[in-house]
Amino acid sequence: MIRSIDAIIRMLDADYIENADIEEKVYGVCIDSRKVVEGNLYIPIHGVNNNGHDYVRQAIDNGAKAVLWERNEPNPPQDVVVILVEDTTAALQKLAESYRHQLDMKVIGITGSNGKTSTKDILAGILSQHYVTQKTMGNFNNEIGVPLTLLSLSENVEAAVVEMGMENLGELSFLTNMVKPDIAIITNVGCAHLENLGSMENIAKAKVEIVEGLNDHGLFIYNGDHKLLDDAVKAKMIPGTIRIKTFGKEQPCDGFVDHIRQDETGVSFSLNTEHVYHLDMIGKHNACNAAAAILAAKALGLSDEEIQRGLHSIEKTGLRNELVRIKQALILNDSYKSNPNSALAAMDTMEEFDYDYKIAVLGDMLELGDTSDMIHYTLGKDLVAYQVNEVLTIGEMARYIAQGARDHTQAHVQQFETKEELLAYLLPYLDKNCMILVKGSRGMKLDEVVEELTKHK
Ligand code: ATP
Ligand code: MG
Repeated sequence: MIRSIDAIIRMLDADYIENADIEEKVYGVCIDSRKVVEGNLYIPIHGVNNNGHDYVRQAIDNGAKAVLWERNEPNPPQDVVVILVEDTTAALQKLAESYRHQLDMKVIGITGSNGKTSTKDILAGILSQHYVTQKTMGNFNNEIGVPLTLLSLSENVEAAVVEMGMENLGELSFLTNMVKPDIAIITNVGCAHLENLGSMENIAKAKVEIVEGLNDHGLFIYNGDHKLLDDAVKAKMIPGTIRIKTFGKEQPCDGFVDHIRQDETGVSFSLNTEHVYHLDMIGKHNACNAAAAILAAKALGLSDEEIQRGLHSIEKTGLRNELVRIKQALILNDSYKSNPNSALAAMDTMEEFDYDYKIAVLGDMLELGDTSDMIHYTLGKDLVAYQVNEVLTIGEMARYIAQGARDHTQAHVQQFETKEELLAYLLPYLDKNCMILVKGSRGMKLDEVVEELTKHK
């Protein structure tokens, strides 16, 4: 966002202290004083542990031209324009909403329990074959990340792909009304954040809130394989001017994914049995993520040729389904997050690889609420459907995965108390022709295990 300070004051309808010229322009906003660059508007956020107002001096030394300031904070700076607000987080959101209204571009909003970032990366890869495209950086998908994403959009952008997350009912409603997507996508529903939302029905309902911000004549694309999601869509009074398309592995749907094949270069799949695409990203589940992206790209006028080219030129976000070869072993590093759906998706992916010996290293799946032990146990039980020789678990809850696997599979099952023990156990396998999946919630930091293994390359 490049705007005069004066324009920002009007966008926020705020009072200000005129320490400097308000005709001057600011170039971009920043909430981290350490990362402020020349010309930024500094927005100090009042966080749980830190109060951004305390770091205003550093922000100004780094080049901030103006700052937002909560009225009840003492000692506003005297050398830059100070824009006075009640709450800087709310002001950041208001500014983003106002800026969005001024932008003339296609905006695609993506939500879902799993696959938001992957779908965002795939869609941005495709759209950039035709449009000047920008996407959410990393995983900036919450009430701060989404407004920052909007404010980071350059005005020459023609298509913006925005990831939207949520942990509670009402949150997506708020975000989507800020993002105002022309196309809204729900990748899927699973039990991520079950702890907060209480039931799968509520999760589905919360996702469908994304349509509330959809522009007139907008397109709503969702995963038709999930009955609960389908019910939630039908229960919601979707405004008449919205077009709806579904994708999935079950007929009938508008983007029918079939013939999914996986190798070390990525996945191929057919869409509506007519066109075969190849995606340079592994993970069989990414075929469905790609189908959602293709429906969106087609609606925006891209040709099959452009779509295929895009599927070959994706800038990926790390730690999701990375293949790492260490000596004889092939590691599938999917340590970024875990819940039952994504863990089984990872098992599906491993299933496609032709290795005689397979090991699943599974850590806790966090934030699953009261029935977390049962959910972990069920995952262990569900492993019976896969070729897996060893199930190695780590973490308090993962004990239940171990139990489920012991009760229902033939695999060798072992629970580890520390990462060091797990590592020591895994090291000899690097000299064997085997495949090792590493999967756990972010908080388990199982990427550290992969990192340590990598040192033995
Ligand atoms: P977050 O909520 O942390 O932002 P996200 O929704 O952006 O997550 P991704 O980062 O794209 O999800 O993927 C995280 C993991 O979820 C992947 O590593 C993969 O294992 C799994 N995953 C991705 N897409 C799907 C899908 N369509 N179905 C099931 N699992 C999936
Ligand atoms: Mg994400």
